[in-house]
Parts: sequence; C-alpha cells; structure tokens
Amino acid sequence: MEESGTASLTPQESVATTVCWACGGMISAEDFYCRFCGKGQGKKIHWYYKQWGIILLTVLALGPFSIIFVWKSPLLSRRAKWINTAAIALLTAYVVYKMYGLWLALNAFFGPLTDPSAGML
Ligand SMILES: [Zn+2]
Repeated sequence: MEESGTASLTPQESVATTVCWACGGMISAEDFYCRFCGKGQGKKIHWYYKQWGIILLTVLALGPFSIIFVWKSPLLSRRAKWINTAAIALLTAYVVYKMYGLWLALNAFFGPLTDPSAGML
C-alpha cells in the first residue's frame, strides 16, 4: 500500500474540474462562478468571506452575527474559524460590558437620590 498525495483524486478530477465550495457541484477549474449556485470561486469569492471583510462586518455592521459568515467562509481554515469566533465573542462581551457600565452610569446620573460616589461621570 503506497500512500500518495493524489490517491484520493477521482479520474474526473484530472481533467481540470473542481468542486464548488458552496454547493459541492462539479465545475470547471477555470469557472469564476459556480454554474449551479452562482457563488464566486477562487479570486471571485465574495469579500465578506475574506478575513478583512469579516472584521469590517463585525465592527461596522453585524457584530456577533458576522459569525455566520465566518463559518460559511471557504477561505478560513477550521482553526481560523474558531479564532474568529472567539475574537467576535470577546468583542461582543466587551461591548455588552461597556454598555452595561454606561447604563449604570446614566441611571446613577439621572436617577433620583443619586449616590454621591457614583454621581461623577
Ligand atoms: Zn455551487
């Protein structure tokens, strides 16, 4: 039994076909877009599946919901997905913590009978 790097290739794959990362359909290796589901391939993969796009989405738009794109992305390794998920979770926790602190400060400021030690913002 010889272990070869190409052992798992089926005969079809030797004629420059590839598998769509999104739907698994067989497409030509030169296709920019999947002929079945229309998703971009290779360099045509949408920006929001790239690392910088995910960071942009997290910070500017989606917050923790960008985790969806992390896990759908064909460009990130499994390890990178976990690192992104952890980073987004931490960022979300930090923002929630800050908002909670702000809420407490506003309550203390505008609330009746303000505690003098909590009155200074
Ligand atoms: Zn597809």
